[in-house]
Amino acid sequence: MFRRASFSFAVGRVVERTREINGRGGEPRAGSVGFVGLGNMGSVLAGNLVGAGHAVVTHDALGPGRSPEGALHVSGVAEVARRVGVLVLSLPDGTASEQVAREVLAVPGGRVRYVVDTSTVGPAAARSVAGLLAGSGIGYVDAPVSGGVAGARARTLTVMYAGDGEACSAVEGVLAGLSDRRRRVGERPGMAQALKLANNFLSATTLAATSEAVAFGLAAGLDMATMLDVLNESSGRSAATGDKFPAHVLTGRYAAGFANSLMDKDVRLYLRAVGELGGPAGIGAATGAVWERFARAEPGADFTRIFPFVDGSMGGSMGGS
Ligand code: NAD
Repeated sequence: MFRRASFSFAVGRVVERTREINGRGGEPRAGSVGFVGLGNMGSVLAGNLVGAGHAVVTHDALGPGRSPEGALHVSGVAEVARRVGVLVLSLPDGTASEQVAREVLAVPGGRVRYVVDTSTVGPAAARSVAGLLAGSGIGYVDAPVSGGVAGARARTLTVMYAGDGEACSAVEGVLAGLSDRRRRVGERPGMAQALKLANNFLSATTLAATSEAVAFGLAAGLDMATMLDVLNESSGRSAATGDKFPAHVLTGRYAAGFANSLMDKDVRLYLRAVGELGGPAGIGAATGAVWERFARAEPGADFTRIFPFVDGSMGGSMGGS
C-alpha cells in the first residue's frame, strides 16, 4: 500500500484572468518571455507564445533551426536571462532543467523572476529545481503538458500546473499563451509532475497493450482497420485505439513527434516515484520492461513504432512495417 503524503492540499481551478494583458493578436503586451528547448514540443509551444502576442526570446543548444518565426533566437541561456522576466523550459529531463536553472542563477543582473517548466522531469527534480531557484527569489511553476505535438498545434494540449499562488498567478498570461486547456492541480512544485507521470504510465501501458492486442488480432486473421473501428465502439477503446493507431500505425506514418526514449524516461520516473511512496507497481514493471527493450533496440524511434516492435517480437505479420 502507498504511504500517503502527510500534507493536505487544495486542488482547485485557478480562476483564469481575462486575457486583457496577454490576449492574442496585436502588439506584444506582456513583457518578454524566454523559451529554452526548441525540440518537437518546445518549437510549437514557443510558436504559440508568439501567436498569442508575446515577445519571445528563444535558445536551444542545437541552434536557431527550430526557433519560430517572430521570435528572437539568442546564443545562450545567459542572454535569455538578461532579457526576460519569465522563462519557459521544454527540455528532455530534470538534469537539463537543473543545468539551465544553474545557468540562469549565474547571470549577474539577470531579470528572470519566474521559471515555468513544461518538461517532464518527475516530482523529485521539480522540487529540487524549485528549491534551487527559490534561494535567489525566483518562483518555479511545475507545468508539464499532455496531448502531443498535434495537441500543442491545436492549442488543446493539457497544461497541468502546480506552484504557489503568487507564482501561478504571475505566469497565468504565459500559461494562457501556451494552450487553451490548463488546470492548476496543486500548490507545490512536483504535484503536477506526479499527475503527468500517472498519465504517461497509463498512456504507455495502453499503447503497449493495444500493440499486443492488435498483433494478436492480425495473427488471428483480422484486419487492423476493422479491429480499430470495432474497438473504438467497444470497451477496449482508448487514446491508443482512437488516436495513435489510426493516425500513425494504420497509416504507417509513425510521426507523432515523441521519442521512445522520452516515454522510457517517463515510465522510469513513474516507477521511481511509486517506489518512493511504497506503492504497487506490478503492471508498471511490465510496462517499464517493454519500453526499456524498445528504447534500447531502436534508440530515438517515434513512440508509435512500439507496434511493429511488439508485433515483430511476437513474430507477427506486420513487424517492421
Ligand atoms: P526533444 O528531444 O525533441 O527536444 C528537446 C530540446 O531541448 C532539443 O532541441 C535540445 O537541443 C534542447 N536542449 C537539451 N538540453 C538543453 C540545454 N541544456 N540548453 C538548451 N537546449 C537544450 O524533446 P521534446 O519531444 O520536445 O520534449 C521536451 C519535453 O517535453 C520532454 O521533457 C518531454 O518528455 C516532454 N513532452 C513531450 C511531448 C511530445 O509529444 N514531444 C509531449 C508531452 C511532454
